[in-house]
Amino acid sequence: MSPGDRRGKLVVGNWKMNGSRAANAALLAGVKAASPFAAGVAVCVPAPYLAEVAAALQGSAIAWGAQDCSSHDAGAFTGEVSAAMLAEFGCRYVIVGHSERRALHGEGDRLVAEKAAKALAAGLTPIVCVGETLAQREAGETAAVVARQLGAAIELLADRIGDTVIAYEPVWAIGTGKTASPAEAEAVHAQLRSRLATLSPRAAAISILYGGSVKPDNAASLFGQANIDGGLIGGASLNAEHFAAICKAA
Ligand code: PEP
Repeated sequence: MSPGDRRGKLVVGNWKMNGSRAANAALLAGVKAASPFAAGVAVCVPAPYLAEVAAALQGSAIAWGAQDCSSHDAGAFTGEVSAAMLAEFGCRYVIVGHSERRALHGEGDRLVAEKAAKALAAGLTPIVCVGETLAQREAGETAAVVARQLGAAIELLADRIGDTVIAYEPVWAIGTGKTASPAEAEAVHAQLRSRLATLSPRAAAISILYGGSVKPDNAASLFGQANIDGGLIGGASLNAEHFAAICKAA
């Protein structure tokens, strides 16, 4: 089996700070009704809803996860949620280093890598987000920025990078309606894959997701690229019909 054969297609919904108990129940019922999907599917939900989402998805093939975790194990860290706590709720995934956390909460590359390490230690799969801002893209810095972000994760995680998922999310495409063209996205994914391939075949075989205004009408062309293994979906994951259509495109 070549490394490429092992790469799983995966679509992950990032609900961000959206939802209510009633809205979540309706959304999950809609997504479940459209399943099964050929690709792996997961939803990353606000922490207070984890128990209910876990119950609603029990017995389905849809996994659940969180949107962040602490870089600490336990203690005086008010407001933080540890990876071990998420694992207790049956989480499979946790997003780390989303650009909103990097921009709004000052999270740097090292902290993101530390969070990924805690997630792995707790048995979770971290989805490590990387991506450039518009200013960085316009300055021709995209390759250097994502190399630095991925490099920090590789430096701390070493061979355990092969147990992560990477999400390339150009910051200028998140929630803006602007999507990287399939060729633009593929160029960055290929760069990330080449870097991983210098480490090991296992590292080269991880799923690299694209995120940034993925919608039902652009999902298939993005997911059809050689190095794009699925998507991290924000806004469209709040609409069952749209999210299911994107899952089906993967
Ligand atoms: C995201 O939040 O990770 C994201 C990609 O958002 P959107 O799909 O809304 O651009």
